[in-house]
Amino acid sequence: MVAFGGHTRYFFAPHPLASVTVEGAPTEQQESEVVVIGGGPGGYVAAIRAAQLGLKTTCVESASTLGGTCVNVGCIPSKALLQSSEHFEFARLHAHEHGIGVDGLRLDLHQMLRRKDEVVSQNTRGVEFLFRKNKVTWLKGHGRLLKENVVDVALNEGGNLQLKARHVIIATGSVPVELPFLRFDEKRIVSNTGALTFAEVPSHLVVIGGGVIGLELGSVWRRLGAKVSVVEMMPTILPGTDDDVVKEAERVFRRQGLEFHAGTRVTGADIADDRIVVHIEREGQARTLDATHVLVSVGRKPSLSGIDAGALGLDLGARGEITVNDQMRTSLPDVFAIGDAVGGKLLAHKAEEEGVIAAEVIAGHPAHMHYHSMPSVVYTWPEIATVGLTEREVRESGREYKTGKFPFTANGRARTMGEASGFVKFIADAKTDELLGCHMIGPNVSELISEVVLAFEYRGAAEDLGITVHSHPTLSEAVKEAALSVLGRAIHF
Ligand SMILES: Cc1cc2nc3c(=O)[nH]c(=O)nc-3n(C[C@H](O)[C@H](O)[C@H](O)COP(=O)(O)OP(=O)(O)OC[C@H]3O[C@@H](n4cnc5c(N)ncnc54)[C@H](O)[C@@H]3O)c2cc1C
Repeated sequence: MVAFGGHTRYFFAPHPLASVTVEGAPTEQQESEVVVIGGGPGGYVAAIRAAQLGLKTTCVESASTLGGTCVNVGCIPSKALLQSSEHFEFARLHAHEHGIGVDGLRLDLHQMLRRKDEVVSQNTRGVEFLFRKNKVTWLKGHGRLLKENVVDVALNEGGNLQLKARHVIIATGSVPVELPFLRFDEKRIVSNTGALTFAEVPSHLVVIGGGVIGLELGSVWRRLGAKVSVVEMMPTILPGTDDDVVKEAERVFRRQGLEFHAGTRVTGADIADDRIVVHIEREGQARTLDATHVLVSVGRKPSLSGIDAGALGLDLGARGEITVNDQMRTSLPDVFAIGDAVGGKLLAHKAEEEGVIAAEVIAGHPAHMHYHSMPSVVYTWPEIATVGLTEREVRESGREYKTGKFPFTANGRARTMGEASGFVKFIADAKTDELLGCHMIGPNVSELISEVVLAFEYRGAAEDLGITVHSHPTLSEAVKEAALSVLGRAIHF
């Protein structure tokens, strides 16, 4: 056990059972040390870690592929389409700036979607490979927690199987929230799933909800030629994000052509054969938006499929999420829960980390989860990446603080890329210089945030980053300079 900067980290010796293997297809009754319900990033990572620690592990997943929302209809396909549509937009708008002529540019949407499907398939097959490598049994079926140590599985191929387990990990994820007057048909009125498979570019896509999913998928279809209108009930898009970042994001996204209706409620919809009339209201003023397609991205809710919390006596929180402690233990002994099903930030890397913690606690290790250095990223262009508190949160806490900011316009590498929108901003404690928040908007900031997350993990100070040498010319120099700016010592701005 080693303590760094107030944090306790545990280094594990290999578990004595690490070489135990689980072979063979499941029989009608099976015993496992660990049964994981759900094979998304929370569940599959928990299963792999449990198996690494020598525990006989079965993962129950009802879908035909592993990887859950993230790999099948979330992180991976959305990023594949974001990448492809970025290339398209670059060719259309910016290639000529580099002296590259692109004549006869055309969109082959069918091929773009096929590539996305292939990327998804590479990833789902990758998870299957990892299960085989780590000797995790994948039971294909729908799991139902009968009691603490028994999971009944309705097998996809027919029949039922009862799994007895010493420990159960619930990793059933989340599902999109539907609006009563806009039920998903996944063709014209879509959740994230349908928005990844439009057979043609929508003429007018109305996105309800200006959060991460709405902005990412809205950006994809705008780049491919759709008119995109984003309706957000809160006063700004990206509620909960640092105010400076939101201001810059709105400015840049508007310039790109996204239309925003913030502080606006959707009150109803008329669905006809050829269009969907969306009724909106802002400060008492009603109007309509004439859409060909609607993406409803107003949030996700925990999925408790197969988990009858009432009957089991499983405690839930106010939003229907499973209540857990910092070791991912639920109110039922021997039952753990992780990922979107336990609420908090609905992020794949959070789910994965919680999966690791649950597996390690089950294996007898003194692990615990903390969220102090949990990053969030929005993969629009420019990208947005944050960790820690917003300036508003720090201000409202009454803590004395200082800020530092560095714009990408002053970064040589960003200028060579022709991508100089945005900035890096730090918030640090006024007395101790401890980093409290970091908020970036700009090129590739999804990668830049990792260095800051590491600094947060060790409770680092702005000066730690400011005095660290960064290669030149790199975007990461903006991180160093923003940290120096907290100290009033930025060189290039
Ligand atoms: C469009 C979109 C983009 C996203 N992009 C990102 C991103 O870029 N970065 C990021 O960090 N996060 C992203 N997310 C969020 C991320 O996908 C989720 O946070 C993550 O998938 C949660 O993992 P999980 O394991 O908790 O649940 P899930 O991934 O939802 O997996 C749950 C699994 O459990 C299975 N299951 C449920 N109940 C049962 C049962 N009773 N029996 C058997 N199987 C069951 C389901 O079939 C599913 O496969 C995105 C989400 C969406 C929708």
